Amino acid sequence: MKYTSYWHDTAPRFTGAAQGPVQGRCDVAVVGGGFTGLAAAYTLARAGASVVVLEGSTVGAGASGRNGGHLNNGLAHSFPAAVEALGRERAVALYRSFDDAVDTIERLVAEENIDCAFRRSGKLKLASKPGHIAAIERNFEAIHREVDPDTALLRRADLAGEIVTDAAHGAMLFRKSAMMHMGRFVTGLAEAAVRQGATIHENAAVTGRRMAEGRHILQITRDGMPGGEVSAGEVLLATGAYTGTYRGAPFQWFRRRIVPVGSFIVATRPLTENEIARTMPGNRTCVSSLNIGNYFRLAPDNRLIFGGRARFSASSDQRSDAKSGAILRAALARMFPQLGDVEIDYCWGGLVDMTRDRYPRAGREDGLWYAMGYSGHGAQMSTQMGVVMAEAILGQADRNPVKGLNWPAVPGYSGKPWFLPLVGLYYKALDRFR
Ligand SMILES: Cc1cc2nc3c(=O)[nH]c(=O)nc-3n(C[C@H](O)[C@H](O)[C@H](O)COP(=O)(O)OP(=O)(O)OC[C@H]3O[C@@H](n4cnc5c(N)ncnc54)[C@H](O)[C@@H]3O)c2cc1C
Repeated sequence: MKYTSYWHDTAPRFTGAAQGPVQGRCDVAVVGGGFTGLAAAYTLARAGASVVVLEGSTVGAGASGRNGGHLNNGLAHSFPAAVEALGRERAVALYRSFDDAVDTIERLVAEENIDCAFRRSGKLKLASKPGHIAAIERNFEAIHREVDPDTALLRRADLAGEIVTDAAHGAMLFRKSAMMHMGRFVTGLAEAAVRQGATIHENAAVTGRRMAEGRHILQITRDGMPGGEVSAGEVLLATGAYTGTYRGAPFQWFRRRIVPVGSFIVATRPLTENEIARTMPGNRTCVSSLNIGNYFRLAPDNRLIFGGRARFSASSDQRSDAKSGAILRAALARMFPQLGDVEIDYCWGGLVDMTRDRYPRAGREDGLWYAMGYSGHGAQMSTQMGVVMAEAILGQADRNPVKGLNWPAVPGYSGKPWFLPLVGLYYKALDRFR
């Protein structure tokens, strides 16, 4: 078994990073080379701005190259819950922004000819217990009526051609949802940004910042040593769950608001056509309805990619990933006993950028533009918000659906989520009794 992301292992590596020292002036510096940063850099460069991306590791090293591969429309919350928390107008705008996000990726893939197996697969939100059907029905009725008629409610009998499991009692189908190969998209997007004129530096962590004559001076650390300075008119922070990863990174305001939570994935060997017919003939993205639930789909080469929170941990390394891999293997066997002893070829994890209320945040604070906090629903939204924030920096129409949304610090928290095991216990108890 390989302890590495399947997406990293099966995509061509990005080879277009700038060589030599990190220095000079630019209109916009983008900190972070995931989907948010790359989509912003692409959009800014295409509009004629000079752009430098500063990535502390390699392009796609963060969540963008480690996720489950789902491009789901629809919110993390139920639509009625979003209306209650955000008001109807913002809830509708946010919902539509997720729709736009999938369209944005489809457009980028077509315009830049990115070979990443993008497909409008549709998503199934599965009722994991009979008692969950009523909530899924309520959500379906609100969504179908108010924001997305391209949805359907599936009864247990309707699932026969979709998924073969006793662990689903019905489902809501979101037809607009999609899937793609995340590693091939991240490399393709970085190459497209460079073609448009952006400069991308890898191994260039931003570890200091000061202002001089109205410009941001960003200090870079490379291999633990001072690695140069960049002078930028504007800065976009696109660092997601990894905002606190690099020692000295001057983003404390954000660290008190973003909680990094580990999420973990296993990928089986490629399944045979017969095994697919006996497990997931519908070939859609699937998400269960438990609090500590699972998300899964088939890869372009027919592996089952099966993820979940597994453990409430703020780290992802080989030891931690291996523990979670064992938990996920057991969950996979519960979902699909017919694959109980299938070989697992990959096991990996990554950090999810959670906000306390699980709504994303984007705007401007302390002179920095930012977009983050997608809370596990970010593969599509990060790309969308990269484009949206680039447009805002360029002074174009403002399409930010969370503009001005209050973002208080998490009480008692300064970057180390000591409370995660307690949250895990709470959700486990909820899953047992509800
Ligand atoms: C295991 C897992 C499964 C997921 N599954 C899904 C899914 O199926 N569907 C979905 O929609 N979402 C999913 N997500 C969430 C989604 O992947 C993220 O929301 C999205 O990729 C965030 O993109 P980003 O560009 O904002 O951040 P990232 O991709 O995390 O990029 C941030 C980058 O910033 C860099 N960085 C941080 N600090 C600095 C610094 N000081 N200087 C320089 N660089 C810095 C990091 O090295 C990193 O590369 C999943 C996430 C994980 C971890």
